[in-house]
Amino acid sequence: MKGYGGQILVVDLTDGGARVERIPEEMARAFLGGNGFAARLLYHHVAAGIDPFDPLNAVVFAVGPITDTTVPGNSRACVATKSPLTGLFFDSTFGGRFPATLKRTGFDAVCITGRAREPVYLKVTRAGARIEPARALWGKTTRETVEAIQTLEGGDADVIAIGPAGEHRVRFACMAHYWKNREGISGRGGIGAVLGSKNLKAFVVAGTLKTEVADPSALKALVEETREPLTKGTQALATFGTPFLVQPINTLGGLGAYNLRSEVYAEARAISGEELTAHYHDKDTTCLKCPVACGKQYAVKEGDFSGLRAKMPEYETIFALGSMLGNSHAPSLVKANDLCDLLGMDTISLGVTLAFAAEALERGWLDPKEVGLPFGWGDWRGMLALIEQTAYRRGFGDRLAEGSWRLAETIGSDALKTVYAVKRLELPAHSARALKGMSIGYATATRGGSHHDTRPTPQYAQGFDRRGVEGKPLFAVRSQHFTAVDDSLVVCRFTSERGFGLFVGEPYARMVNAVTGWDMSVDELERIGERVVNQERMFNVREGVGRKDDVLPWRVMHEPIPDGPSAGMHCPPAELDAMLGEYYRLRGWDADGAPTPERLAALGVP
Ligand code: SF4
Repeated sequence: MKGYGGQILVVDLTDGGARVERIPEEMARAFLGGNGFAARLLYHHVAAGIDPFDPLNAVVFAVGPITDTTVPGNSRACVATKSPLTGLFFDSTFGGRFPATLKRTGFDAVCITGRAREPVYLKVTRAGARIEPARALWGKTTRETVEAIQTLEGGDADVIAIGPAGEHRVRFACMAHYWKNREGISGRGGIGAVLGSKNLKAFVVAGTLKTEVADPSALKALVEETREPLTKGTQALATFGTPFLVQPINTLGGLGAYNLRSEVYAEARAISGEELTAHYHDKDTTCLKCPVACGKQYAVKEGDFSGLRAKMPEYETIFALGSMLGNSHAPSLVKANDLCDLLGMDTISLGVTLAFAAEALERGWLDPKEVGLPFGWGDWRGMLALIEQTAYRRGFGDRLAEGSWRLAETIGSDALKTVYAVKRLELPAHSARALKGMSIGYATATRGGSHHDTRPTPQYAQGFDRRGVEGKPLFAVRSQHFTAVDDSLVVCRFTSERGFGLFVGEPYARMVNAVTGWDMSVDELERIGERVVNQERMFNVREGVGRKDDVLPWRVMHEPIPDGPSAGMHCPPAELDAMLGEYYRLRGWDADGAPTPERLAALGVP
């Protein structure tokens, strides 16, 4: 099969055993790779009802046919598991060099199950799996771990590691991969905590196999054709990175602030891409073979963090640790972001959980003595201290480590009304109230509060009706198919959306056919997206998910945006209910949101 290594490696950390499974062409053509393979594998490897921290849970790392080709943004991998935050299917993608190196091992997917008796790291090469002791690395930061393993294994090996947060099973612990030109941070939903529960400190890959492309000249022609729109469409990203979004989204009235009590942040300018670039830009960084270079390294030259050189905080981080906390102290965002990467924590869940805590303190639901240190709106010193406490589950950090929903549950039902989460996953920086497509999108997303199921990008475009419900269920359906295909290929969303289109279309079919030699139609590709979404939904239905869970945060449904250009917007329950009905009908799901046997049979799921 062109475009594939054609093999899956299944590793059991409990006994150290590993086996190789061949990937039949029918499976590749039905699920493509990455996200699709992970959905298929997890459905079959993880039985319903298993605790995410049970050794029987599995973590799948997977690449796709596009990985390590010449497609811009091709060095991207998917990682998936049953999430300890949501209790449901969860996948995440990351870049850097690791994804291309994983592909070069000849394994398109590595499925990790079991639990090692003591800390280990797993190394995968063309020869298979090798498990190495890692007791000396336990307690180290992600960067220290990656560097120590690269010293042992050589610079050609790529490493992704958990930090102390993963070891302490923080429910939103993630992983970090460092490569000289760009980091890859991955694993919202607590994938790092699942690795920690398996005593797996790091995953290491090394390989040299080349990905064979069926029709290199067809692929070259496609890449040439898309060069111009890609260059034009990524100008702001290339200049400022994702923080370029701060100002326009604030101007639109959709930048959540003060735990969503407002969606206009008066001090947005201080934490905008323009300001951050002017003060801190040091150099651009980029994933392997990507012309965009949306990553930036910052250097802080004065103040409390003088001398700090660290990765640029992404837009989502600026929202979660900035406007949501009423924090416009830009250097503290650089510091907090770096801390989260080193300790291995998702900044979105952490920031939104802290924002909930700030409101709970203000309302008197939390006693300052319980928190144990000064903290409140705009208190970046308290924020930094709580970040450290959370990673190690020290003091109040132990409660924050459970995420906003579980923390609010311990307080009471009024507190739950102020949590900004769907299916227990904290929402990112694309408003569930100001973008109607996101309202239905978040409610129906496999992961819950994720902007990578239904995409916000098209909704910011001029001419898109972001206020009306008309057509939004269909928009969510098609957008979810697109993201499932994108993450199965696996390609970077920034390059795919801007170079190849916002929905599954001709350029994507040409891409697949050039790499694999198949004759896939656009409709067949769209059906792959639908198949993956249905496979994920079946995982969640098996866990008890239904219409009752396809809801939005209480505040989104009951409190209109109070001020600014989006004032009055929200998504009342009746409106959501009507959109849900339409969404289920379009999907061929029953009234409770379960895929019908007929639709599953037509798609070949599960
Ligand atoms: S656009 Fe940015 S995140 Fe995407 S592949 Fe390029 S450098 Fe990496």
